[in-house]
Amino acid sequence: MISRAKDRVRFPARFQLVAAMNPCPCGYLGEPSGKCSCTPDMVQRYRNKLSGPLLDRIDLHLTVAREATALNPALKPGDDTATAALLVADARERQHKRQGCANAFLDLPGLRKHCTLSTIDETWLETACERLTLSLRSAHRLLKVARTLADLEQVDGITRGHLAEALQYRPTSS
Ligand SMILES: [Zn+2]
Repeated sequence: MISRAKDRVRFPARFQLVAAMNPCPCGYLGEPSGKCSCTPDMVQRYRNKLSGPLLDRIDLHLTVAREATALNPALKPGDDTATAALLVADARERQHKRQGCANAFLDLPGLRKHCTLSTIDETWLETACERLTLSLRSAHRLLKVARTLADLEQVDGITRGHLAEALQYRPTSS
C-alpha cells in the first residue's frame, strides 16, 4: 500500500522473486582463470549494496558456475527440465493434500503442525541459528525450505539432512 498526498494505491505483492548478481565487481571471482583482480574490500563493498533484511527474505542463495561449465551436461548430470517439473508438481500436490496450501504460505500454527522436528534436531537447529546469528524469520523460512526438500523426496518427516541442506541455501556473509 503506497500513500502519497491524498491518494492511496494498493499494488499486488504476492510474487516470486528470482534475482542474480555477480560475485564481485568484475564478475570473475572464484574462477580458475584467475582473471579477478578485485580486493576483498571491493568485494565486500559490492555485496553490501544489498541489505541484510532484503537478503534475509530470499530463501535460496545459489552460486552458479559460468554458463560454459553449467551447460555442459557431461560435467554435472542433473534432472532434465521435464523430470524436474514432474518432481515439483508431485511435491506441490503433497503440500496441498496435507495442509491446503504451498509450504511458502504456511502460517505460524501451520509451521508448528507440519514442520515438526525431533527434539534432537530442534536443538541442533537452534544451535545452528545461534551460531550463524539467523533471525527468527530466517529460521522459519529455513524450516519451510527443509519441508519442501522432504516433499521433493516424497518423505513425511523432515530429517537432519533436509535441515542441513536448507541451511546451505541461506546467505553466508553479511
Ligand atoms: Zn572480481
